[in-house]
Amino acid sequence: MTEKLGFVGLGNMGHHMARRLLEAGHNVVLFDVRSEALDAFRDNPNATIASSCAEVSKLAKTVLVSLPSPQVVKAVVLGENGLLTGGAFDTYIDLSTTGPQVAAEVAAKLSELGVDCLDAPVSGGVPGAAAGTLSIMVSGSKQGYEDHLPILQVIGKKLFYVGPSVGQAQTMKLANNYLSAVALAATSEAMVLGVKAGLDPNVMLDVLNVSSGRNSATLDKFPAAVVNRKFDYGFKSGLMYKDVALCLQEADRMGVTMLVGGNMKELWKMTKEKLGADSDTTEIVRIFEELASVEVREQDQKEYSEVR
Ligand code: NAD
Repeated sequence: MTEKLGFVGLGNMGHHMARRLLEAGHNVVLFDVRSEALDAFRDNPNATIASSCAEVSKLAKTVLVSLPSPQVVKAVVLGENGLLTGGAFDTYIDLSTTGPQVAAEVAAKLSELGVDCLDAPVSGGVPGAAAGTLSIMVSGSKQGYEDHLPILQVIGKKLFYVGPSVGQAQTMKLANNYLSAVALAATSEAMVLGVKAGLDPNVMLDVLNVSSGRNSATLDKFPAAVVNRKFDYGFKSGLMYKDVALCLQEADRMGVTMLVGGNMKELWKMTKEKLGADSDTTEIVRIFEELASVEVREQDQKEYSEVR
């Protein structure tokens, strides 16, 4: 494939996706506001380091972005030296989770220039991004989706075309992340309860994972990042709060009542404020641990199990 790709946003997710595109033989023009995010790519002969978003869209036909918030998406596309001002690109693929409203707003402006827009939020976390096994939900033109399948298949293995309107995939993704947020919060409460009652957390996970309480936190996040106290799952609390807040915003806009959602928004806001926006989402367990004075920790390290 000779067509040049562009990639903006080389954070926890984006740097793996861009690396995989390079490894698959694509030429990729890269930009991030953090120059250290570009360091890993500087010596790659297939990578071109751009100095702005405008330079990316000047050099690349298809531009992918993986960005942290709706405000940043707007700045990257519509802002000063944004993609819109570079101009030569014909396809924009947004892999971020930033909600349907900004996706539609940005697509309306880009389509005036003849740029085809796909919103393509992903799920599967940093491990999925590293291995190229993400789920990708895509909306926008079916033709655009089919034309860009070879690129999307480099970064994801489970691809779903969910609808013709830009923004539909964002709504799908917000519903998914809402459930992920609820599962992680409720699992934290249940695990703290069990540990306080003297249960071994690994035994609890073994039971839950073959029983009706299993979910993405019991199957994946707790074994990978909580009971070993690594808290390095790779998804920031600030981003989870953003997703839950966007979901509730959509629910409000659509006239849908989400009672559990109201509590989730407050809880993730508290987590972000107490532990910091850059804390790992798995650290939410610390909120409940502190209140109960226990730690959900593997039993061979039990001597440290009391929170001091
Ligand atoms: P991140 O904060 O690690 O990365 C975002 C990157 O965007 C950073 O490198 C940052 O420097 C860059 N950036 C910020 N402003 C910019 C600008 N104006 N121009 C260029 N670059 C800019 O976030 P992440 O975890 O990689 O997530 C990216 C998106 O993917 C988010 O929308 C997130 O919700 C979503 N997502 C994340 C995960 C995960 O597990 N981390 C999973 C699925 C989806």
